[in-house]
Amino acid sequence: MLCKDKIAIVTGAGRGIGRAIALLLAEEGAKVVVNYSRSAEAAEQTASQINDAGGEAVAIQADVAIAAEIENLFTKTIERFGRVDILVNNAGITRDKLILRMAEEDWDSVINTNLKGAFLTCRTAAKLMVKQKIGIIVNVGSVMGRVGGAGQVNYSASKAGMIGLTKSLAKELGGRNIRVNAVAPGFIETDMTETLKEDYRESIRKQIPMARFGTSEDIASVVAFLCSSGAAYIQGEVISIDGGLFM
Ligand code: NAP
Repeated sequence: MLCKDKIAIVTGAGRGIGRAIALLLAEEGAKVVVNYSRSAEAAEQTASQINDAGGEAVAIQADVAIAAEIENLFTKTIERFGRVDILVNNAGITRDKLILRMAEEDWDSVINTNLKGAFLTCRTAAKLMVKQKIGIIVNVGSVMGRVGGAGQVNYSASKAGMIGLTKSLAKELGGRNIRVNAVAPGFIETDMTETLKEDYRESIRKQIPMARFGTSEDIASVVAFLCSSGAAYIQGEVISIDGGLFM
């Protein structure tokens, strides 16, 4: 087991990629906090699936963009499990529009959830992990943070920001035995990409050397590896999981 008896918080873990990460970390022996913002039922179902399979999980609500809710998420996790070994910053949203039509609110909501959210969770986790003298943080970025995307200045900027956050934190915390890395998924089959028009999906597919969109499990397996001792000397890295889209 890659994560035996580790305590993991996965943000946005009721659905999509976060759900797959939560399920796999649990399968690998971790006790998992399934964070959600609005999808209570999905998060409870994810936690139940883990508990029914003999693992241990609890669903906890918190909007990652709100500092007080993040404090509460970590407080409740400590009350239940006593420590936090792994933080996976997966929660994320898109509000795609060309910049000429992009409202300030579209910018703020994406930056606040994707980037400020990761800052808030990392800050709270860092306090605990420095005291524990051990910890692992994995940020879920995106290929869009590396290559940019028309109609996605807010999203691409948030994901590029997560790369800077990851590398800076890796330098700050590396000497404290805390590893900080990121994954950069390409196009993955989830609710987030479901709304893309078929002709756009086809044009993307043609650009992917592996000629398919990825699955949530494709991302979860790399995150689980980054959380394992096999990745003990990987620090400040951003691993593309995109079928070769970005090289
Ligand atoms: P998704 O299916 O739309 O799920 C998004 C998740 O984020 C949900 O669990 C949602 O929970 C949670 N979330 C959103 N706002 C939140 C908030 N304020 N606080 C806490 N949780 C919040 O998306 P996905 O495709 O699984 O994406 C997961 C991550 O992968 C995101 O960071 C995304 O940017 C990244 N990513 C996805 C793709 C892709 O192609 N799908 C590609 C690259 C990167 P609630 O429903 O409870 O709000």
